[in-house]
Amino acid sequence: MAATYNVAVFEGDGIGPEITAPTIEILTAMAEISSEYAFSFEHLPAGAAHYAKTGESLPKASLEAARKADAILLSAMGLPDVRYADGTEISPQIELRKAFNLFAGLRPVRIAEGGLTPLRMPKGKSVDFVLIRESTEGLFFSQGIGEVSHGEARETLRITRDVSEKLFAFAFNLARARKEQGPGRGNVTCVDKANVFRAFAYFRDIFDAEAARHPDLSFDHAYVDATALWMVQKPWMFDVLVTENMFGDILSDLGAGLMGGLGVAPSADIGLHKAVFQPCHGSAPDIAGQGRANPFAMILSGAMMLDWLGLKHDVPAMCRDAARLRDGIDAQIAARRGLTADLGGTSTTPQASQGLASMLFART
Ligand code: ATP
Repeated sequence: MAATYNVAVFEGDGIGPEITAPTIEILTAMAEISSEYAFSFEHLPAGAAHYAKTGESLPKASLEAARKADAILLSAMGLPDVRYADGTEISPQIELRKAFNLFAGLRPVRIAEGGLTPLRMPKGKSVDFVLIRESTEGLFFSQGIGEVSHGEARETLRITRDVSEKLFAFAFNLARARKEQGPGRGNVTCVDKANVFRAFAYFRDIFDAEAARHPDLSFDHAYVDATALWMVQKPWMFDVLVTENMFGDILSDLGAGLMGGLGVAPSADIGLHKAVFQPCHGSAPDIAGQGRANPFAMILSGAMMLDWLGLKHDVPAMCRDAARLRDGIDAQIAARRGLTADLGGTSTTPQASQGLASMLFART
C-alpha cells in the first residue's frame, strides 16, 4: 500500500486561497495517477484575515497540527491594513521558521529554453542554480531589537557556528544530490563580504572547514556585490550558492526577476526535520479575488515539497513527479499558452492551472 503523507495547508490571505486550490488539485491528481504515494491535506487557519477576526495570527492548534504533519504548504500571509498593535506586519510564516528552526531557505533559479527572462541568453545556455539563504539569524537576528538613540541607529548581525555548520552541511549535501540527479555539477559557492567584515570571515572559515569534509565536491567563494553582477551577466555558471539571511533576501528577489517575476518563483524553508514550502511572493492584495493570480510559483513550491518528501522517504516516484511539474510549466511558458497577465498572457488562474493539468495528464 502506498504511504499517505499528511500535509498541513495554510491558504492564508489575499490571493492565497486562489492559488492553493489548483495546487492541491494537481498534487492530488499526480498522486492518484502514480499510486505510489498519497496525500491527506489538512487546512489550518492563520494569517492576517484570521487575526482581524479572532485576534490570533497563528493559533496554537494550527502550530501543533503543522508540527505533526509530514510537510507544510503555505501560500502567502499578510494584508497591508491589518497590523499588530506595534504596527508590524502579520507574518506567521516567520513564526513557523523560528518555531521549527528552518535555517535553510531554498530559492531555486531556473531559466529553461524559451523562458521569460529579461536576460539575453546565449544560444544553448540554460540556468539552473539554487540560492540557499540562511533564515534564522544574520542581520534579521536584529529584527525587533535594533536600537535608535542619541542620533544613531544600530542593528546587530549574528552568525553562529552551530547554525552555519548545519547550513553548510546542508548546502554540500544538496550539491551532491543535484550532481547525482543531473542539473548540478557538485559545486558550492559561499557568498559573503569576508573582505570587510569579521563576521563574514568567520562565516567563510566555517564554510571552508565543511568543504574539506566533501572531497567529492568542489567549492569557491564570491563577494555578494560580485555575485549580484554575475547573476545578471553569467548566471549559468552557478550551481549551489549559500549566504547570510539579508544577502539571501536581496539576491533571491534578483533571482525571481531573472526567471520572469514573482509569479514563477518558488521557495522552501528547510530544517533538520521539518520544511515549509511557499511561493516567494506575498498575498498580492491588489489582484486578490480577480482570478488573475499566477498559480505557478505555488505549484512549483508543491514540486519542491514532492522532491523533499521523495528524498526523505525514498519514494523516487515523488521526485519524478516533481520534475514533471517543472517540465510542464517550462513547456507551457515556452509555448506562451495558458499564461496569466503577469507573464503577458490573458488566462485566469483556473485556466492557467487547467492548461498545465491537461498537458500533464494527457501524456500519462
Ligand atoms: P510581501 O511583503 O508580503 O512579500 P510584497 O509587498 O512584496 O509582499 P507581493 O504581494 O509579493 O508584494 O506582490 C508584489 C507585486 O507582484 C504585486 O503587484 C502583485 O500583484 C504581484 N504578484 C505577486 N504574486 C503574484 C502572482 N502569483 N501572480 C500575479 N502577480 C503577482
